Amino acid sequence: MVYPSFDAILQSVATSPDLENLEALLCIDDTQQMEKLFSLARNIRDVTSGKRMVLRGLVEFSNYCRNTCFYCGLNRTNASVSRYRLSEEEILACAHDIAAQGIGTIVLQSGEDAFTSLYLSKIVEKIKDRYNLALTLSVGERPASDYRDWKLAGADRYLMRIESSDKKLYESIHQGRTLSSRITCLDVLRDLGYQVGSGIMVGFPGQTVSHIAQDIKFFCERDFDMIGIGPFIPHEQTPFRSSPGGDLLLTLKTIALTRITTKNAWIPSTTALGSLDRDCRLDGLQAGANVIMPNFTSLSCKKKYEIYPNKEGSNMRGSESLASLSSLARSAELVVDGSRCDSLKKSYIQNL
Ligand code: SF4
Repeated sequence: MVYPSFDAILQSVATSPDLENLEALLCIDDTQQMEKLFSLARNIRDVTSGKRMVLRGLVEFSNYCRNTCFYCGLNRTNASVSRYRLSEEEILACAHDIAAQGIGTIVLQSGEDAFTSLYLSKIVEKIKDRYNLALTLSVGERPASDYRDWKLAGADRYLMRIESSDKKLYESIHQGRTLSSRITCLDVLRDLGYQVGSGIMVGFPGQTVSHIAQDIKFFCERDFDMIGIGPFIPHEQTPFRSSPGGDLLLTLKTIALTRITTKNAWIPSTTALGSLDRDCRLDGLQAGANVIMPNFTSLSCKKKYEIYPNKEGSNMRGSESLASLSSLARSAELVVDGSRCDSLKKSYIQNL
C-alpha cells in the first residue's frame, strides 16, 4: 500500500476538504511540514484577499448575558462580574473615535443581553447616519424579527460563533441550548442579506481533532464571509476552570487549514491569540489570518468584559495605536487596510 505524501495531502485539501486529510494535517508536528502549511495559507491569502491586514473597531457595549456557556466568564452565574451597558452617547463616542482613526468598520458586541430590538435599531441608525462605517453586530441568538429590524436600520454584518459543529459537543458546553437553533439563526441572517461570520475555539474540554476537521468542513460548506478561530483559555469562574488551555500550534494549524480551504474569508488573528503568555497575533497572521480587531471600549469596561482572563489584545485606549498596528502588519509583510472591506465571496458580490 502506497501512502500519499505530505505534499500530496496538502495540495489535495486545497481543492477538496476531505475529513481524513484535514485530520492528518491537524496532527502534523514536523517543523518543516508546519512551515509548508503556513506558507501555503499565506500564499492563498495574498492571492485571494491581498497582502493586507484589515482593521475592525470593536466596541463591547454590554456584558449582561442570560446564558451559561461553560467556557465564558460572562456566564450569568458569575456573580463576581460587575455588569455594565454603555449608554447610546458612549457607543456613539466610540463610533466617532473609530471613524476618526480612519477605520471603516465598527463591531458592536455584547452578551445575550435583554435590550429591546428598538434600543439597538436606534443606535445602528444613528451610527450609519453620522459615520461612513460598515456595521457588524455580535449580540447572539435573537428572534428573526430583531435581525430584520437591525438590517433595516442599516446593519451590514453579523458574527455568531458556532464553537462546535458537532451537536453533542455543542450541547455539552451550552446548557439548555441547541445546535439547530444556532444554525437556524445563521441561516436567517444570511437570508436577510447580512454578511455572516462564525468561528470556533480550539482546545476546549471534549473537543478532538476530528471535531476540528468537521468544523473546517462546516466553514467551507456554509461559505462564511468571516471566520474567527482562537485558543480556549480557561476562566476561574466557569466549570472549565481546571482544564488546560488550547494548544497554540493546533490553533495556528486550524487557522491555516481554514484559509487553505475557504480561500477568501476574512479571518481575524483573534484577541484570544493576543492574550496568551505572549501576544501571538503575529503568529496568527503568519498562519493566514488577515484581520485585527482593535478594541475601542473604555479600559474600565474592557476589564469587565472578561470572556476569558487576561484579555489583552489590541486596545486603542491603552498601548495600541495605528503606529503599533502598522508595525504588526509590517512584521507580517502586510499593509494596514482601514477601508470597510466587505465580503469577498462571490455570493455576496453577485447580489450587490
Ligand atoms: S459566550 Fe456569549 S452567550 Fe455565552 S455566556 Fe459568554 S457572553 Fe454569554
